[in-house]
Amino acid sequence: MSDMRINGQRLWDSLMELAQIGATAKGGVKRLALTDLDKQGRDLVVRWGREAGMSITVDQIGNVFMRREGTNNALPPVMTGSHIDTQPTGGKFDGNYGVLAGLEVVRTLNDLNIRTEAPIEVAFWTNEEGSRFVPVMMGSGVFCGAFTLETAYAARDTEGKSVGEELARIGYKGEQVPGDHPIGAYFETHIEQGPVLEDADKVIGVVPAVMGLSWYDCVVKGMEAHAGPTPMGLRKDALQVATRIMQQVVAIADRYPPYGRGTVGMVQVFPNSRNVIPGEVKFSIDLRNVNDELLNTMHEEMLAYIEQTRKDTGLEISIERVSYYPPCPFHPDCVDAVRKATAKLGYSTMDVVSGAGHDAIYTARLAPSGMIFVPCKDGISHNEIEDAKAEHLEAGCNVLLHAMLERARVA
Ligand SMILES: [Zn+2]
Repeated sequence: MSDMRINGQRLWDSLMELAQIGATAKGGVKRLALTDLDKQGRDLVVRWGREAGMSITVDQIGNVFMRREGTNNALPPVMTGSHIDTQPTGGKFDGNYGVLAGLEVVRTLNDLNIRTEAPIEVAFWTNEEGSRFVPVMMGSGVFCGAFTLETAYAARDTEGKSVGEELARIGYKGEQVPGDHPIGAYFETHIEQGPVLEDADKVIGVVPAVMGLSWYDCVVKGMEAHAGPTPMGLRKDALQVATRIMQQVVAIADRYPPYGRGTVGMVQVFPNSRNVIPGEVKFSIDLRNVNDELLNTMHEEMLAYIEQTRKDTGLEISIERVSYYPPCPFHPDCVDAVRKATAKLGYSTMDVVSGAGHDAIYTARLAPSGMIFVPCKDGISHNEIEDAKAEHLEAGCNVLLHAMLERARVA
């Protein structure tokens, strides 16, 4: 069993064929959720699923489950999947790789005449990208109960078309109640979408967790005054105080490596005039880390620093948390299955914590879940120049095959 391998050329050819639907002049893909092109992409993948002997179930939010029966169909399926919708300037691999890697696993099991005890399923989730319709990760979010079907149906694009109408129009408003579908374990293969694997020259990223994030709006209030007549010691310069806090955001992240992240990405200065001492500064803060404890420590340190700065300067400083997504640790059994499969196959590897969201965050609320990352060129995705090496995609798919077999068990 350990010398079993997928067919890398067939995987690559399928990726290139699917990428023709919505292909852009710059070599990328534009296949937004629930458009005619999404329907064509869905139809093609479903046809391939049927040709590989799988049965198809579509749920009410348009998630598609392609199933290969096991020898014991009372067991919940071992599932893999991702999404086939793309960004407006998307690439060939983001999402598509995870779905077609699952298909390639099934094709390989068919070739080798291997039955599994548990059924195997390949899923693709509706509107992961969140580009045409908000929120992101919509299909998997409804599936796990993060928000309701009604909320998702009511989401509209910029032309006023709703998810409910568009699902019905393209023929993917299914019967099954979202979530009314057991999962034994879930694996998702994905390009890394960051530069870490390539930089370290590793082939497989084992993903122990997805980072949590905490977003804030901070406002510092000083006093506008003339830049000439006002001596330095008698100023209330909001920008100078704001920049101290901004420096601290980065310092806090640096204190909690390797996954601490601190970013100030948006700044507004009032009145934003060359010869006026800034009277008010509004800015964003984005803190991230891999577990609740570290993220909470970073949060507390930032509040304490702001309190101290308030006392030291006498300026009014307000801070408000505007978003929070908790860190998502993946299940040790699934992380181990990926690690073991990678070791068995002899690929170079390292742990990579995901800084981006994926459907697996939501499946993790319902079933043991894990992810497999492969490098992408220069760490770039959500871009038409997104690229990945065929040998890396093949390696990730081999890891998926062996990790899924460990969970589904060869009959
Ligand atoms: Zn993706």
